[in-house]
Amino acid sequence: MSGDKRTELEKLGEFGLIHELTKNFKNARKSTIYGVGDDAAVIEKDKDNAMLVSTDTLVEGIHFNLMYTPLKHLGYKAVVVNLSDIYAMNGIAEQITVSIAVSNRFPKEALDELYEGIHKACEFYEVDLVGGDTTSSTSGLFISITAIGTARKEDVVYRNGGKPNELIVVTGDLGAAYMGLQILEREKEVFKANPEIQPDLDGHDYILERQLKPEARKDIIEFLKKLDVRPTSMIDISDGLASELFHLCTQSKVGAHIFDEKLPIDPSVSTTAIDFNISPTTVALNGGEDYELLFSIEQKDFDKIKGNPHMTVIGHFTDEDSGLYLIDKQGSAIQLSAQGWKHFSKHKM
Ligand code: ADP
Ligand code: MG
Repeated sequence: MSGDKRTELEKLGEFGLIHELTKNFKNARKSTIYGVGDDAAVIEKDKDNAMLVSTDTLVEGIHFNLMYTPLKHLGYKAVVVNLSDIYAMNGIAEQITVSIAVSNRFPKEALDELYEGIHKACEFYEVDLVGGDTTSSTSGLFISITAIGTARKEDVVYRNGGKPNELIVVTGDLGAAYMGLQILEREKEVFKANPEIQPDLDGHDYILERQLKPEARKDIIEFLKKLDVRPTSMIDISDGLASELFHLCTQSKVGAHIFDEKLPIDPSVSTTAIDFNISPTTVALNGGEDYELLFSIEQKDFDKIKGNPHMTVIGHFTDEDSGLYLIDKQGSAIQLSAQGWKHFSKHKM
């Protein structure tokens, strides 16, 4: 530390902090094809192929609450959120390493359950667990996973390849994981007030599953390959559509128009959002943790994905100067803020 200067992390935000910490590093290795700044690093493997590497950490009390998160689900989710970053580069995940820091609050049986979930995800996504680290923590559980994947060099899709007039596509539907979390948080408060009352989770199966046991879109990567569609830019939706679209636009140096009426929202998300007095559009834009893919395609590829129930065209890229807009149902353009950007003041990074 130098002198008495003190910069609050809250002021920088996550992305500002990463920039500050990494700005003086220059890649010197020929094998480093792409370093900090995308969903995964891209490293030369051989003449034709690249290795993709990505790390994510889950912290108890920040990313999960063990009051309502079964450890088996947590293990599964910890793997999925990492694999999602490999698919977001248009690659296929092959290995993971798993590091845990755990307090003596947990018996061995609890960790068995965590690893049952990790095992299940490894089987489903066909990845090998090849290493990790085990250490103690003074309190709480930490899980850090590194995912390794591969792609042909020419197939790797970055956040920065988008061009004006290309179509913006989102997979699956948005906002469900966030609404699932709202239900779990509500029932947690009810339980804290009166432990006799049983949680009321009936009828919320879909959104609860999306929060507790999300899936990564390996199927979409395989499908796009079959259709012979190569996205021009891509990112996974971990922090919410608005935030991820911001990343694509900033790095591709384009603007965007997306249309409110096109946003894919499950009816159960809309009804729950309205129950909670939140607009379904806000939930779709800023919810987070959906682990869907957001990508752009050339107009000529539209016919190949048209009518596919897993992919929705929500808008198009524009010139950089024209900014980021949501066109509402009345046709008015609303400027999208960088809401959904994570800050240290918020509960999650
Ligand atoms: P994602 O949300 O896709 O996991 P992040 O927003 O976590 O991506 O990270 C953005 C970029 O910054 C990635 O390239 C990541 O590897 C890099 N990064 C994040 N934290 C650090 C750090 N502490 N040191 C170096 N690089 C980092
Ligand atoms: Mg990502």
